[in-house]
Amino acid sequence: MTDAFIGMGSNLGDSVALLIDARAAIDQLAGCRIVASSSLYRSAPIGPQDQPDYFNAVLHIDTSLSASELLTALQYLEQQAGRVRIRHWGERTLDLDILLYGEQIISQANLQIPHPRLTERAFVLKPLLEISRQTTLPDGQSLTTCCTATADQPICLHHDSRWSITP
Ligand code: AMP
Repeated sequence: MTDAFIGMGSNLGDSVALLIDARAAIDQLAGCRIVASSSLYRSAPIGPQDQPDYFNAVLHIDTSLSASELLTALQYLEQQAGRVRIRHWGERTLDLDILLYGEQIISQANLQIPHPRLTERAFVLKPLLEISRQTTLPDGQSLTTCCTATADQPICLHHDSRWSITP
């Protein structure tokens, strides 16, 4: 079994409901179990500014799937959620990214781990640091230092009682 962290985001449709459903679906994947779920966050868009705020969270899972099997499963869930993506860095119904997969560094055409933009995004780093005991990346970079460097990116906790229910 491998500890992995999944970043979740949505800014189209009922984003909170989409993230709740995705969290439940991930917990029900064969070979996956949710260990911890971060709080729900609301963040300003990066890229085009004429789009709604995003809702974000990070899940810690324990999985027997390989990283590429996990990617396939997450992409299936994105499609199941009726994934719509209008433009690069633009609005989307559901985005699921593998942030970390154990201590592995993977560099394949369709899969890079740690996720290539993990260190640059407050909406990933804040929820990740909330639930992760891991404070460094496989290459030794400090997640806390990366998070401090993103302090100018607007992000806040978002309370929604639907999210608080244990998955
Ligand atoms: P995006 O919609 O921006 O999340 O990008 C999706 C694309 O990123 C897919 O084609 C994936 O194959 C690729 N990708 C590369 N590394 C990862 C990763 N760690 N997690 C999820 N998708 C990834």
